[in-house]
Order: sequence, then C-alpha cells, then structure tokens
Amino acid sequence: MRIVLVGPPGAGKGTQAAFLAKNLSIPHISTGDLFRANISQGTELGKQAKAYMDAGNLVPDEVTIGMAKDRMAQSDAVNGFLLDGFPRNVSQAESLDEALKADDVKLDAVLDLEVPEDEVVKRIAGRRVCRNESSHVFHVTYSPPKREGVCDVCGGELYQRGDDSEDTVRKRLEVYHTQTEPIIDYYRAQGLVVTISALGKVDEVTKRAMDALK
Ligand code: ADP
Ligand code: ADP
Ligand code: ADP
Repeated sequence: MRIVLVGPPGAGKGTQAAFLAKNLSIPHISTGDLFRANISQGTELGKQAKAYMDAGNLVPDEVTIGMAKDRMAQSDAVNGFLLDGFPRNVSQAESLDEALKADDVKLDAVLDLEVPEDEVVKRIAGRRVCRNESSHVFHVTYSPPKREGVCDVCGGELYQRGDDSEDTVRKRLEVYHTQTEPIIDYYRAQGLVVTISALGKVDEVTKRAMDALK
C-alpha cells in the first residue's frame, strides 16, 4: 500500500505511523525525522534545513522533494510506504504524483487525522523525543516514559524539540492551515481522502485508521 498521512503538527502522525507501518508491513517515511537525523549528523542537507525548521517554516521544496524521492527509491519502499509529513504543500503533492506516475503506481489512500487545535497544543507542549532516534516519541502525561527523561525503547535521553516552543508552534499551525491543508482538497479531487478523528487513546486511533484503510 501507498499511503499519505496528513494532519496538524502534534496530531499523532508519527505515533500512528509507527503502528500502521508495522501492521501493514511498509516502511514509515517521515521527512521531519529525516531532517532531524541530517541535522544531528551535521550533513549539508541538515545545515540547509535547520534555520527553516527552527523558525517553524517549511524547508524549501528543492531540498525536500529530492530527499523524499531518494528515500522512496530505496529498496524497502518498492511495494509501498507510509509517508508522514510529506507532501506538505500542493507543489510537493504534484511532484509526488509525477514520481508515482513515472513508476506506473498510485497512492491508495490519504489518511487525514482530525484533532481540535487545543488538543494539538497540549500534545505538542508535552511531547518529548529521543536524542538517538526521533521516532521514539513520548508525552509527559499522555504516554510518560517509565523513567523520567529516559527513552523506554533504547535508553536514550529525552528532550523537547526546539520547534515545540509555544511561538514556533503557533507559526507551524499557521503554515499547516495556509500551505498544507490545501493538499486535502487536492487529494479529495482524486477520491483518496479518508478522515478520522485522532482523539482518544493511541490504540483506539490505530484501530480507527486500520478500519478506514480497509
Ligand atoms: P510535526 O510532526 O510536528 O508536524 P515534522 O517533524 O513533520 O513536525 O516537521 C518538523 C519540521 O520539519 C517542519 O516544521 C518543517 O520545517 C520541516 N519539514 C518536515 N517535512 C517537511 C516537508 N515535507 N516540507 C518542508 N518542510 C518539512
Ligand atoms: P505528529 O507526528 O503529528 O507531530 P506525534 O506522533 O509526535 O505527532 O504526537 C504528538 C504528541 O502527542 C506526542 O507527545 C505523543 O506522545 C502524543 N500523542 C500521540 N497520540 C496521542 C493520543 N492518541 N493521545 C494522547 N497523546 C498522544
Ligand atoms: P486511564 O484511562 O487509564 O486513566 P488514559 O491513558 O486514558 O488512562 O489517560 C491518562 C491521562 O492522559 C488522563 O489524564 C487522560 O485524560 C489523558 N489523555 C490520554 N489520552 C488523551 C487524549 N487523547 N486527549 C486528552 N487527554 C488524554
């Protein structure tokens, strides 16, 4: 299956993507995680992306699209993938369509996670991620690690992302509404969008998502 996950920052895309990718046996591809890995490794791409991310803006398409296509071209993604955080504007969605067309394949679904804004603000404020692996995600009250500040999965140090500060979150929500939300209409015109509520416990949301993808 080829699936795109959309939803505001803090909706639970990364959390759900981990379970869905496992259930569906497809790789979870998160452009945010790829950027953060590049930043921690000090790569040229990471250097190009960092200032945009710190400010809550989108990283330019020239950088992002190439990185996403390279990842999708890896061997584990030939039979499907779950995209988390890409595409994030209409021009990225068009580039993705072209790349899929060139391979003579299609998206199966665009899963839209719906969450009220006051809830995403709470989720982001309490989010803590692992320094070793940014897909290891916790929440200080909703899914606390067994030992404060320590990742349950790998023992890494948990920290609060710099772009999870209140001001940057406001900017990221604005960017979501102006630049990312239009891709929902773009995909709706292709009949691909399934919308589910992302409220409730993590496993309840996963079940809702799996039912919606059947
Ligand atoms: P969240 O999960 O909170 O929505 P992400 O980890 O997906 O955040 O993204 C963090 C930041 O990485 C974004 O604010 C943006 O700067 C950058 N980013 C991630 N994916 C993209 C993309 N597809 N296009 C441009 N910028 C991106
Ligand atoms: P996104 O990738 O959309 O930015 P994350 O998956 O990182 O979102 O989740 C944001 C925060 O909300 C994390 O701290 C995560 O632990 C928490 N979270 C995710 N799903 C739920 C849920 N169903 N209920 C409560 N908190 C959640
Ligand atoms: P329990 O049902 O055993 O009390 P939960 O995991 O449902 O435990 O919730 C633990 C805490 O996190 C509660 O205070 C609950 O209100 C909060 N919580 C969990 N998930 C969410 C969510 N999606 N939205 C808001 N609060 C949540």
